[in-house]
Amino acid sequence: MSPAPSYSDKSTALANSHSTTNVTPLKPRHDGFGTRAVHVGSEPDQVTGAVVPSISLATTYKQDSVGNDRGFVYSRTGNPNRNALESTLAAIEGGTYALAFASGLATTATVINVLGPNAHILSVNDVYGGTYRYIKRVASENQGVASSYVNLQDEDDNAILSAFRPNTKLVWIESPTNPTLRLVDIPRIVRLAKSHPSKPLVLVDNTFLTPFYSSPLLQGADMAHYSVTKYINGHSDVVMGAVVLPAHHAALAEKLRFLQSTIGAVPSAYDSWLAQRGIKTLHLRMKAHGVNALAVAKALQSSPHVEDVIYPGLPSHPQTALAYRSLSPHALKFVEKYRKDNSSPEDTSFPYSGMISFRIKGGAEETNKFLTSTKLFTLAESLGCVESLAEVPAQMTHGSIPPAERELLGIGDNLIRLSVGVEETEDLVHDIEQALEATFSD
Ligand SMILES: *Cc1c(COP(=O)(O)O)cnc(C)c1O
Repeated sequence: MSPAPSYSDKSTALANSHSTTNVTPLKPRHDGFGTRAVHVGSEPDQVTGAVVPSISLATTYKQDSVGNDRGFVYSRTGNPNRNALESTLAAIEGGTYALAFASGLATTATVINVLGPNAHILSVNDVYGGTYRYIKRVASENQGVASSYVNLQDEDDNAILSAFRPNTKLVWIESPTNPTLRLVDIPRIVRLAKSHPSKPLVLVDNTFLTPFYSSPLLQGADMAHYSVTKYINGHSDVVMGAVVLPAHHAALAEKLRFLQSTIGAVPSAYDSWLAQRGIKTLHLRMKAHGVNALAVAKALQSSPHVEDVIYPGLPSHPQTALAYRSLSPHALKFVEKYRKDNSSPEDTSFPYSGMISFRIKGGAEETNKFLTSTKLFTLAESLGCVESLAEVPAQMTHGSIPPAERELLGIGDNLIRLSVGVEETEDLVHDIEQALEATFSD
């Protein structure tokens, strides 16, 4: 029998110290976001000088003598492209450890496995449907994980604290929530978690904002969780997930590294390469998504055919002050400059990622008419990529939620969710305006 695999194997250690043959030491962390996104993990190849990493498809690696490898042994445990991507992800987050998985949900599954037996998870109540399904149908039914779902936006401190149990190991935050874009005050929830004797870890699913708009680790969270499928890869051609941890979580990162290799829900070398390529323009895309979404949100707000627009960057959003307060340092810089250059002092709106929800006047019929009248916004699930998408949560992404619960969450038949892409601003605004006109023209 072969010896039990060590989870601090050499390829992991090398990946984390960036000393593999074609990854040179990390550039100083004070480089700006875009600089890190372009350079970290993408250093020119020391042998050929190639300025982008090669795609390394090998599943196994030659050992120079028994047990004497060059940092890679078997591709599930570590391969150059995944390791490079992980170093890029850690760098843009401002974290120390990043682990990539075959999907956002594979990340979720692995993170929940790290909690150990008989854990209790306290989650935000309108968590992503797939996360809810995993916790209820897999973790709960097969692993005995208990869970509670709490309104972390509106409940007061005591109500939230009373939902903690002695075995609460994880608090699961998602902000903004989907599709009604309600925000959770992350530092407040971190403070409550730290004050409770069960000392749960706090995880933030930061898929909607990405490390560009929000830095959960700077706000005190223990883990930043991503569906890389969405904005981070950004081109609708990779399914992937990741979790990023700060320097003080070396032990937790090592346990996750062990589970990553042992459960084996890992991304391919090719997908890792694609996602890393996507990240190089993340800052450019996120600025464009934000600027476009703000313009579309304003156009919707001024339309007589729209009942209600939900976008945290609009002053009409009840939590717009929290949205502003929670911007990452690099997003704050961008937003301040954008405001100075583009708006009057009394306009306090600002770009805040690319997701908008709105209620069209009418019901299912008007919703369907609108969604079949857009020419640039494609009727499809998913979000966060360069092309603009639109969908009806009640019948698509959130269709499995019972109608009564949907009603409580504000997900009616006339609620439309937009993922605003990076096409030209004027074209997107025009598309929305013409589709609204077409919907109500007869
Ligand atoms: C899509 C998504 C997930 C799941 O990610 P997959 O890559 O589809 O497995 C988790 N959380 C949020 C917020 C998402 O949008």
